[in-house]
Amino acid sequence: MKRQVYICEVGPRDGLQNAKHMMPTAAKKAWIAALAAAGLEEIEVGSFVPPKLIPAMADTGEVVAFARTLPNVKVVALAPNLKGFQRALEAGAHKVTFPVSASRQHSESNVRMTPEQMVEEVRKCAQYPHPGVELEGAVSTAFGCTLQGAVPEDDVVRIAVALAEFCDAVALADTVGYANPAQVKRLFRRVKGEIGAKLEGAHFHNTRGLGLANALAAYDEGVRNFDSSMGGLGGCPFAPGASGNVITEDLVFMFESMGVPTGINLEALFKARVILSNAIPDEPIYGHTPLAGLPKGFRAAA
Ligand SMILES: [Zn+2]
Repeated sequence: MKRQVYICEVGPRDGLQNAKHMMPTAAKKAWIAALAAAGLEEIEVGSFVPPKLIPAMADTGEVVAFARTLPNVKVVALAPNLKGFQRALEAGAHKVTFPVSASRQHSESNVRMTPEQMVEEVRKCAQYPHPGVELEGAVSTAFGCTLQGAVPEDDVVRIAVALAEFCDAVALADTVGYANPAQVKRLFRRVKGEIGAKLEGAHFHNTRGLGLANALAAYDEGVRNFDSSMGGLGGCPFAPGASGNVITEDLVFMFESMGVPTGINLEALFKARVILSNAIPDEPIYGHTPLAGLPKGFRAAA
């Protein structure tokens, strides 16, 4: 069966980075192995940020090295700067994602750089030797920002165009869950008009329950690469009770029931979810499909 959409599980990075509870390294490995066994061929396993800043990501080097031993898994890590990129290369990541915030205020408070300075930091990384390693530039807060509010679409387009010069792929990220489907269609269409096939990924948060609707809107615009996290892990410190990323289980169910193969086995995915909830039992996890179960007579896409 040939997959027609490509789902990157970002729970071990985006989810755990924003979770209240720390997951021990051994549990991370078991969870990642179960995700791979369910058919997730791309997993963002951690982030090379200073461990003092985000203690939950301190073991990323070890986790990357472990994930590399799993067959058929593209191991993705996030890096905010050249130093993080060098650590990612040393650990053996197959792909490195660089977040560049389109919101000036978010960028300055998050990485203490303007968006333009951050683009230059990614350019430095692209110029650093990285044989065989893919670079993705992710335009974060592309649909709005908790600090700045509205983010001008012109700013998003300008950053995407700059990143497309030296990155293998560009993604648009709704970091704080502000996006709506009409906005998603408009912005993806506009950026695609500028950088064509380099526009690859969509990263949505489910903060206001629109994660799936936004993913479908992006799909309708031709997007085939989606980030999501198991159980919607992560949440948002600004929105109590809100889940984190679009929920992997529900996203897979949506596509499979539409007849769009994901290459992911839902029953195996539910088993990985048990490993997750046993590892951090006090962390809230979400998802409609795992709670309701698969519909009677459900057949995966073929
Ligand atoms: Zn995110």
